[in-house]
Amino acid sequence: MLTFASLEDSLKHYFGHDTFRPGQKKIIEAALRNKDLLTIMPTGGGKSLCFQLPALLREGLTIVVSPLIALMQDQVDALQDNGINATYLNSTLEYEERRNRQIAILKNQVKLLYVAPERLLNERFALFLDRVHHDVGISAIAIDEAHCVSEWGHDFRPEYSQLKQIRQRYPQIPIQALTATATKRVREDIVNQLNLRSPDIHVASFDRSNIHYEIQPKDRNIYLKLLRAIRAESGAGIVYCLSRNRVEEIATRLKHDGIDALPYHAKLPVEERSKNQTSFLRDDVQIIVATIAFGMGINKPDVRFVFHYDLPRSLESFYQESGRAGRDGEPSKSVLFFSFGDRKKIEFLIEQKPDANEQKIARQQLRQVIDYAEGNDCRRKIILRYFGERYSGNCGKCDNCLNPKPIEDWTEEAQKFLSCVARCQEKFGTNHIVDVLIGSRKQKIHQYGHHLLSTYGIGKGRTADEWRMLGRSLIHQGLVGQTTDGYPVLKLNKRSWEIFRGQLKVEVAVDKSPGKTTTAYNPRQAEAELLFEKLRKLRKQIADRNSLAPYMIFADSSLKLMAQLRPKNITDFANLSGVNEYKAQQYGDRFISEILEFDRQHQLPVSIPSKSQMATLQLHQQGLSVTEIAQQRGFAVSTINTHLSELIEMNQPVALNKLVTPDKQQAIIEVIRQVGDMTLTPIKDSLGEEYSYEEIRLVRGWWRNNN
Ligand code: ADP
Ligand code: ZN
Repeated sequence: MLTFASLEDSLKHYFGHDTFRPGQKKIIEAALRNKDLLTIMPTGGGKSLCFQLPALLREGLTIVVSPLIALMQDQVDALQDNGINATYLNSTLEYEERRNRQIAILKNQVKLLYVAPERLLNERFALFLDRVHHDVGISAIAIDEAHCVSEWGHDFRPEYSQLKQIRQRYPQIPIQALTATATKRVREDIVNQLNLRSPDIHVASFDRSNIHYEIQPKDRNIYLKLLRAIRAESGAGIVYCLSRNRVEEIATRLKHDGIDALPYHAKLPVEERSKNQTSFLRDDVQIIVATIAFGMGINKPDVRFVFHYDLPRSLESFYQESGRAGRDGEPSKSVLFFSFGDRKKIEFLIEQKPDANEQKIARQQLRQVIDYAEGNDCRRKIILRYFGERYSGNCGKCDNCLNPKPIEDWTEEAQKFLSCVARCQEKFGTNHIVDVLIGSRKQKIHQYGHHLLSTYGIGKGRTADEWRMLGRSLIHQGLVGQTTDGYPVLKLNKRSWEIFRGQLKVEVAVDKSPGKTTTAYNPRQAEAELLFEKLRKLRKQIADRNSLAPYMIFADSSLKLMAQLRPKNITDFANLSGVNEYKAQQYGDRFISEILEFDRQHQLPVSIPSKSQMATLQLHQQGLSVTEIAQQRGFAVSTINTHLSELIEMNQPVALNKLVTPDKQQAIIEVIRQVGDMTLTPIKDSLGEEYSYEEIRLVRGWWRNNN
């Protein structure tokens, strides 16, 4: 066995990482002292390393209990790709293969063995383990997803509750339990059920500091908003919807709009579900549109964004779902699209529940989600408060911290609003009240004679949207009541009267949605991004050839470092964080040649884009379509297309794939190869109706840049 000067050295050697994540080192040290351990870390915190590294530093075999076969395969693939001897035994293997693996284990050639809990408890396997224990030794038993032992958790599995037998059988072998579930009850259950001996308990913070949190109002143009938001992102993303129909609808529309997206929900045939999941893991498709059926047991560390198209049912589920972004620690994004209407929908569903207690719990959960969505506090603070953690200050990575909404005194407006509620005899909802305030001519107003009220038209100084915002805020702050059975009707309460009497001031956080912030253009950064994209392509090719998910070759963070630091030899390459010796040997050459090639191209004199072209590029990078850019800039669509073609030719980071489908690109390039790139007409003639001059010009730009 190898020895190392420090734990950090061993981390670099086996996994390529330079430093430990918070908590990892202490846990690993305790594991090496053969302590029983309970580790509670949020998703993406880096739990696996806490048992994997000790396994490699000790004599004998470490057994890892894992509930899902797919996860098991995944982890073993990733370990093997780091040159680590790990394997699994499960029902998917042929007899022959199973035997070979068992022999390798008995020859002490394996350090980590993954098994499902039911296997661990079966009699024949127990005999095999006895032999392993006798011949090579079992160094530890790691129990992943340990909350499955608890009936109080959300994922109870009866097989897990029998795991205590393993403790009885091998009382000397240390047990390490790991989970991302934070509640106290589950924690206690794990310790008792698994019979842990005065375990070291490590609870990491639940703050996912690399995730940027944001709420966006969900209005009539919600689909377009979503589309734009997706276009502005790169990398993999998940869009969560509440219903299966919505999933199908959104996935179809996205596909139609040129976004690579696949649906996922419980009603899809099993094969299709698993096919879609694999496509997502391997980066064959960028977006998965899913119900919450998607996610459990999906271990894709490089999900860059999670969008909630619908309101999640609880803050806990929101946290788990949004937490599927950025497990690799790289900057990632969570956006929740929120509308008052969604809240009403869920309230309605809650009312349909037959059980009063269930209703109560569901209401409380909804309340917490609404607090998150409507609150003006730091979003992170609200989430962490839910987990009993205190967070203070400005996180700098949520919309409320970045664009705090100014608080204004709207007492006078509130008085107008509430007196209108009173004049309408507390029989109407917000929309009607607003119509009266702004003096609308709607039929309904006349029908009730409300155009004769003294409050009719007294609110002309503000827009209907502003009044609605005030209405929401009053409800939210409990300054006016609202009925919950049937159609929501506003009712004055004690505090409303205090406002009338001037005893209570009304403060409202005014949402003046700031204009899009444009980030300054930085040529160096743009170049690094371009190289990053090239390296990503190379990574994908290598991954496909080896039937692996791209992240198993290198993490996004390592690719970014390659793109910024541009290592030109194996030594520099192996020094990058996330690269170990084994991987440098395995893949270094190909990545280095790509970098050298990129450097060579970028030393050629390049022409510099004009100011106007740069402005187009910026909007393009923000995800606007060609038509939208043309509208915003007041130019013809053809001008914008010409800009983009020229930008491509100047090697600027234009996302050609979003403008022309890869199939079409291929076809156009083939024709250019034959007829040359001087004039467009012969190219167009040879391609036919389905190809536009714009598309050909864009691809020609690419061709000129690359030839
Ligand atoms: P969890 O099981 O807690 O959700 P994982 O063990 O899957 O988290 O780790 C999440 C990601 O973090 C993985 O991509 C892993 O490679 C990465 N990771 C873990 N520890 C480190 C570290 N010390 N430095 C850099 N990356 C790490
Ligand atoms: Zn914040």
